Amino acid sequence: KLARLPYRKTLSEFDFTFQPSIDEKLIRELATMAFVYRAENVIFLGPPGVGKTHLAVGLAIEALSQGMSVYFTRLSRLIEDLKKANKENRLEKRMRIYTGPKLLIIDEVGYLPLDDLGANLFFQLISARYERGSIILTSNKGFGEWGELMGDTVLATAVLDRLLHHAHIINIRGNSYRLKDRLKTGLYG
Ligand code: ADP
Ligand code: MG
Repeated sequence: KLARLPYRKTLSEFDFTFQPSIDEKLIRELATMAFVYRAENVIFLGPPGVGKTHLAVGLAIEALSQGMSVYFTRLSRLIEDLKKANKENRLEKRMRIYTGPKLLIIDEVGYLPLDDLGANLFFQLISARYERGSIILTSNKGFGEWGELMGDTVLATAVLDRLLHHAHIINIRGNSYRLKDRLKTGLYG
């Protein structure tokens, strides 16, 4: 059971009243892990601090508690890793780190743009997992911005086509939890 979680926070530590745009029932349903057995994906979208990583981590902890293999990574780290493996002619073997686990979590898609090779490797991975293994992905970017992110609209469309075919999309519209106390006391800004 690999994991590499950035921090340990459970779903019960998540305050759903702070983020009313999130359908708590859907998160509870996802926590049963039925989506993993169906090889469906989960996409958390929204601005920084709204709980995307926390919810991904919470679901990862649930999956681990059910004995599933889980691997957590950020997109930038994933791409750096695959690029290194590609350079050293061991891409196929290294790819198995990401295709092997029942659940793969790709955090922070969108903060850094991908170059040609990066976009190509990302497409290869998404294709390899398509209808075989679940992905939880988080992004601060709307799907319309993925062409720019990947520097290639055709490739971005191909990635999204596979990623979204069987996917639960959770669009979080709300304030950053990190800034909640400052927003309350009016000291933000
Ligand atoms: P992001 O959407 O940028 O990934 P995070 O999920 O990392 O944001 O959330 C930022 C911090 O705020 C984390 O420490 C997280 O645990 C906390 N947090 C965010 N939303 C909530 C919430 N609704 N209830 C409790 N903690 C939250
Ligand atoms: Mg995050």
